[in-house]
Amino acid sequence: MEKGFPHRRRSHTVGAVTEAIEDDVAAPADPTTGRPGVLGTLFRCCGALAATPGRLLRPRRPDQRLLASLTPLPVPAARVTVGLRTLPQSRTSAPVTIVAEGVRSLRTVYTVYGAFLVEHPKARFLVDPGMCANVHERVLPGQPFPLGLLVSPDKPVLGLGDALADAELDVTDIDFTLATHLHWDHVSGLLELPDSVELRVTGTEYDWAMAGPHAPYGVVRSPLHDRRIARLTLDGPPVLTFTASHDLFGDGSVLLVDLAGHTPGSIGVLLAVDDGTRVLLAGDAVWNSLQIELIREKAPMPGQLFDADRAKTFETIHRLHALPSGIEVIAAHDYDAMLSRA
Ligand SMILES: [Zn+2]
Repeated sequence: MEKGFPHRRRSHTVGAVTEAIEDDVAAPADPTTGRPGVLGTLFRCCGALAATPGRLLRPRRPDQRLLASLTPLPVPAARVTVGLRTLPQSRTSAPVTIVAEGVRSLRTVYTVYGAFLVEHPKARFLVDPGMCANVHERVLPGQPFPLGLLVSPDKPVLGLGDALADAELDVTDIDFTLATHLHWDHVSGLLELPDSVELRVTGTEYDWAMAGPHAPYGVVRSPLHDRRIARLTLDGPPVLTFTASHDLFGDGSVLLVDLAGHTPGSIGVLLAVDDGTRVLLAGDAVWNSLQIELIREKAPMPGQLFDADRAKTFETIHRLHALPSGIEVIAAHDYDAMLSRA
């Protein structure tokens, strides 16, 4: 086991379940409420599987006209800097040719799961509150067969409360959370945070995740149940290669940028970090930086299931590829990128 990867587990009772019992309020929502049907999912899986061998041989080609049109705007000035620390919680592994479609290699890469702790002078917050300790029982049943199996993190999962304790913080020390998007592996840690801790997410994303009788693939609604939601709008100007932005504190230190595609309301979080670097937390726009370097989609299986809009996702990969040097991109599941900031 590598140095620095946490696998410690403690008995640490925090969050919604404990509070629900103590306060004698309703139990947390059933994760299977709103789960998509199995038959339709199997049909979609068959389509994705059928499309995969061809793409491994002939990956989708970059759009050279789009690339030529992307001239990065200057990096915006920041009057304030923030602290950044990643909180790895689990990992699994996947063939590199699936993560970055068609890479000619038989090797596998680690896929990490976790959260990002940001400390601004005005607030301490989590970008993607990650996972709860018992996510396999409390959340993953909300994914239809066989999706839960495809994306299951290795056990044990370090719960968010324990990950924060490792950073010498308590769950009550978090002022708010901010989601790059609402897939289950990015927000299940909410189940270990007090109900009063707000989740900030784009209105586009929230409406997409919560509308209709069935959740989109990748979304489990129960961690969002009874959560205070603050809807964000990307109402600011283009930034770098991205078409819209929102300055979270009005000081340039935390800029949200449009990374739509993987989900309709996906955002990246551009940080001015106190070590002098600029870091873009890119959510799941890509799963590994190799995709940005080579301009590669995820392979159809499972990309067709989890990228809500494949064309838009591929466009966003071009925008990430065209970023100026000096922007450190951390995709949420990129093991090396996340561990380098742990
Ligand atoms: Zn994810």
